[in-house]
Amino acid sequence: MINFLQLRNDMIDNQLISRGIFDELVIRAFRDVPREEFVSLDLRNIAYSDCPLPLDKGQTISQPYMVALMTQLLSLKKTDNVLEVGTGSGYQAAILSKIVQKVYSIERFAELVAQAKSNLKKLQINNIELICGDGSCGWEDKAPFDAILVTAAAPDVPEELINQLADGGRLVIPVGEMHMQRILRIKKKGKGIVENYYDSCVFVPLVGKRGW
Ligand code: SAH
Repeated sequence: MINFLQLRNDMIDNQLISRGIFDELVIRAFRDVPREEFVSLDLRNIAYSDCPLPLDKGQTISQPYMVALMTQLLSLKKTDNVLEVGTGSGYQAAILSKIVQKVYSIERFAELVAQAKSNLKKLQINNIELICGDGSCGWEDKAPFDAILVTAAAPDVPEELINQLADGGRLVIPVGEMHMQRILRIKKKGKGIVENYYDSCVFVPLVGKRGW
């Protein structure tokens, strides 16, 4: 029998805290979400590896550290209205759902939406509204958002996403070339924005109206 709890705690110590993840809400969320439930059966034994893992439809569940870094950069508090673009397995959405009251998430592949819904239901996570569609222009009806997280690589920052941020809102998005990007955080301040770049990364492409 694999001791997933032990693997999870080791991952949090060796991959997250040791690399500078300090937000207690983020760390607690990682303790609460069993990552092995978000990968296929044949990958469960390596669910806590320090790397992305394949999902169906040629997509990937991000490396745990990348999920933690992006979540920490959102500076979340419980009452925040949060949008994720690129649901994939639902793992990142599950992490967000442990920190805030309500999460909206959009995924373009119906098959992945169905899998994510089933993964989340099994864990009795009920505060995520999940739809199938192109999230590259955000989710106008649910805006404004305090935080928007894009988990696919964009060529540029979609203007619609900035428009859907509340004043003081944060957008975290991998931006760059098709095969290499950097994590960008944008904070909206009144009519202006403040931009900061973080780690290099390689995400699957954001495909859609404002993607590739
Ligand atoms: N956050 C996911 C992993 C994301 S992989 C997890 O925790 O498992 C990126 C996902 O973004 C893929 O599933 C891909 O299909 C999706 N995607 C790409 N472009 C999209 C778009 N325009 N709208 C919605 N989803 C998109």
